[in-house]
Amino acid sequence: MAQALPLQTAAQRRTRLLALVLVSVLVCALLGLDLWHSWTARRQALGNAQDNALNLARSLAEHAGSSVEQADTVLADLVERVQADGAEGPQRDRLRRLMQAATATHAAIHGLFIYGPDGSWRVSSNDVDPPAANNADREYFLYHQSHTGVAARLGKVIASRSDGTLVIPLSRRLNGPNGEFAGVALATLEVAYFNDFYKRFDLDPLGVISLTLDDGTLLVRRPFEPRLVNTSIGKGPIFTSLLPESDSGAQMFPSVVDGVTRMYGYEKVKAYPLVVICGQSEQSVLAAWYANLWRTAGFVGLLLMVTLLFGTLLLRQLRQTAQTEADLRNAHAALEKLAMQDGLTGLGNRRQLELALPHEMGRARRSQRPLGLIMLDIDHFKRYNDRYGHPAGDQCIRSVGQAVLGCVNRPGDLVVRYGGEELLVLLPESDLAGTRRVAEQIVEGVRGLAIPHLDNEPVAVVTVSAGVAVWLGSDTGRPQAVVEAADSALYEAKRGGRNRIAIAPTSDVTPPRTASSTAPPA
Ligand code: GH3
Ligand code: MG
Ligand code: MG
Repeated sequence: MAQALPLQTAAQRRTRLLALVLVSVLVCALLGLDLWHSWTARRQALGNAQDNALNLARSLAEHAGSSVEQADTVLADLVERVQADGAEGPQRDRLRRLMQAATATHAAIHGLFIYGPDGSWRVSSNDVDPPAANNADREYFLYHQSHTGVAARLGKVIASRSDGTLVIPLSRRLNGPNGEFAGVALATLEVAYFNDFYKRFDLDPLGVISLTLDDGTLLVRRPFEPRLVNTSIGKGPIFTSLLPESDSGAQMFPSVVDGVTRMYGYEKVKAYPLVVICGQSEQSVLAAWYANLWRTAGFVGLLLMVTLLFGTLLLRQLRQTAQTEADLRNAHAALEKLAMQDGLTGLGNRRQLELALPHEMGRARRSQRPLGLIMLDIDHFKRYNDRYGHPAGDQCIRSVGQAVLGCVNRPGDLVVRYGGEELLVLLPESDLAGTRRVAEQIVEGVRGLAIPHLDNEPVAVVTVSAGVAVWLGSDTGRPQAVVEAADSALYEAKRGGRNRIAIAPTSDVTPPRTASSTAPPA
């Protein structure tokens, strides 16, 4: 049986490895490219959102600042008038008209009020002031009463005592001629005014805009929720870490009010303790990016699947090719072996000898070691065929072949069927003594088989004759010459009475010398 050759040659293994590397590189490149693209696209989307938030916060801060400033200008004018001319008699009506005109002109102003040092209403932008009304309990009133500063002050949202409207109080202290507390001038800014303004901006459903005091107190918030008015977001990142660093900026973080993560832009209003904050939800900021991500992920996934499929097919194809090539190589090796094998005995044939002999002679020449040859021929085999028939003759040749094979045991030794019932034994690195010993063992071994051969007298069993030749590594000459020398020695053995060996001279050019025989059995 021909031994199976390895499935893959080194070249096939390299090709397979190359294909594997190629597919892996392709897959990694695709994934890497997709990840890099997604990452940069996300960064860009966030960068754009950050710019937008910052710009919106800046515009809203401008608006809040100018709205308060307008009211404050009116308020400062009123303070100056009241302090100079008082608020009694005809002055009172003039002031009322002035206040009503200013309220009508400035959309942000809900009302204007002058209170006396006891909190009583002196004059307001209302047509009729509530009788016996007193605002001495208001937080802004108490503040100015106890603080001598004359700067405008913004307070928390309160409900108007005139009509219940939610307003942001902007107040200034009124001083008497000697700097004593003379009351408070108040302008109220309508929360709804800011709310209406903020509603005009296009935000996502989770988007927010807030106007707060600089301590984080919420004054206005879109979407408007009454419960949130005057609550504090002072513990949020804008007030704890961002505003201390910079008056404006944009950053993404979860809201302290509703937990929604948004890209927030904030800006502190110049000259007033106000901060404007606007935020778009992360969901909407990254909506386009997410949509694109799924699209490209789908596309890349498809590409990956196709690459893996083709890679698998390619590897399978390579494996099949390797299998086919291995089968072919095995078949070729089997054929080659068959071509060098004798069909009857399973021994090597003459062709194998023709290849092996020059090869072994070359080796012997290089190593300067002798090469032993034994030519064998079954004695009186014609007669055997005649008596026992050809099939028995064939079986006899097989048995003799196996017996010969049993007498050689070194890996390099070779037994071939040289012709009909002639065998040849090649013994590399075997000198005359060794070759002779093997020849004698063969002759004895065949005889020992005791195959009956009545026409082979006197022993009446099958025997062989052997011609021994030894080719020395230092000798020259054709390979055929050494075979001929062994053949001549065989002829001598036949002539000498068969069932024996004869030895040729060690040179292929010298004729065989006297035969030496093995003793026949008793
Ligand atoms: P000798 O002792 O001188 O060798 O006598 P011999 O009869 O053996 O003579 P020779 O070697 O010349 O005879 C060869 C015979 O071997 C001829 C043929 O009948 C027989 N023979 C050759 N090949 C085969 C074979 O394959 N099978 C069989 N059964 N016989 C074969
Ligand atoms: Mg013969
Ligand atoms: Mg013969």
